[in-house]
Amino acid sequence: MNVSQNKEGGGGENFQINKVNMSWAFVRESTPKARKAHTCDLCFLPIPQGQVHVARVGSDCGLFTFRMHLECERVTRGWESEDWESKTDGYEFRQELEEYRGRDKYKGEV
Ligand SMILES: [Zn+2]
Repeated sequence: MNVSQNKEGGGGENFQINKVNMSWAFVRESTPKARKAHTCDLCFLPIPQGQVHVARVGSDCGLFTFRMHLECERVTRGWESEDWESKTDGYEFRQELEEYRGRDKYKGEV
């Protein structure tokens, strides 16, 4: 018997950033302290100098850095790649963030 059909690996795909409509490739991620003020690329609110945030470096005809508040980055976990297309225009994102905060019921400041 000829075993010509490979068993399709079901399920186990995790965090694939190189998807169809994502033209950039993930390079590295770190959580530095801001040496100067930045703007969060998700909520478009300021990341003040000295604040620890997520800096995700990608490559797309050259390297770029996508900076996010720690809390904002948490909101994006579990996003599909199309969410990155549709929810990252600031306004949409801030609504998502509000929802997230409501769900999690943070006590006090983060
Ligand atoms: Zn933010």
